[in-house]
Amino acid sequence: MKPSQRFIAGAVCPECQSPDSLLLDSNDQSIECVDCGYTQTAEQRDTDSKRESEAQQSRRKSVPEKVNVSDIIRITNIKNTD
Ligand SMILES: [Zn+2]
Repeated sequence: MKPSQRFIAGAVCPECQSPDSLLLDSNDQSIECVDCGYTQTAEQRDTDSKRESEAQQSRRKSVPEKVNVSDIIRITNIKNTD
């Protein structure tokens, strides 16, 4: 785990559905699953949500069901045991 990474509390991996296994990198906003190794860059996430909203033709500005890292409920601080 990189020093810039923090666990995203309450987030579920889109790949393996494992809860609380996603790490958010505060440098590039990418996410990584410690369980299955799934990674997603902020750019990919952006593309995904655009594609989704187009497909759904959402009437309103609805919150995507996918993990929205910038709006995560809370981010667990990892204590440095050093
Ligand atoms: Zn996973």
